[in-house]
Amino acid sequence: MQETLTIALSKGRIFKETLPLLAHAGIVPIDDPETSRKLILDTNREDVKLVIIRATDVPTYVEYGAADLGVAGKDVLMEHGGDSVYEPLDLNIARCKLMVAGAKNRPETPARLRIATKFVNSTRRYYAEQGKQVEIIKLYGSMELAPLVGLADYIVDLVDTGNTLKANGLEPLEHIADVSSRLVVNKASMKMKHRQVKKLIDLIAEAVNERRGV
Ligand code: AMP
Repeated sequence: MQETLTIALSKGRIFKETLPLLAHAGIVPIDDPETSRKLILDTNREDVKLVIIRATDVPTYVEYGAADLGVAGKDVLMEHGGDSVYEPLDLNIARCKLMVAGAKNRPETPARLRIATKFVNSTRRYYAEQGKQVEIIKLYGSMELAPLVGLADYIVDLVDTGNTLKANGLEPLEHIADVSSRLVVNKASMKMKHRQVKKLIDLIAEAVNERRGV
């Protein structure tokens, strides 16, 4: 009898892009999270369940073992901080960059910068590494607005095509980190369910490599 494996995923882009990788590992969800209200999804495999949670909660579920594995963006993992989960595999999906951006026609910036972001911890770390004192303003969305209305000098946000910045008269200024989704694993599960977890990691790695044409 196999032990149950629980995989934590967030709805939307991560779910859609992870599905083919799971399918390669022989895991197909029975319900669609976009239409179902269920938070625990059964799969075609009796020993595998999916839990559908907010992207920012994935590291917490995996850290505490409420899920054995999960998929989380590097941005979310950097914000969560520490090394509380294993991160064995870059899934190479949902790729973008964490960047500092500012208005194209910005007035001279003050000595002590004000930065608006939802990535408070990553931003603090980035400026601390440079020995710069900055004031960080936590926002939950629409960061692009902050420099336009004088709330902040710069923002720290995810940039993909750069179109959102451009549409709001902003430009990317500094690259903080490359971001993509990662497979994360609970540390105890890696030991206690090693055979099952290792097999899943290997199959997903195979799917990632096939997609990259490796
Ligand atoms: P873009 O206009 O293509 O540069 O996309 C920027 C917007 O999409 C910003 O609001 C970002 O927060 C969001 N975004 C871009 N890439 C990602 C990603 N991989 N994960 C989550 N949000 C993203």
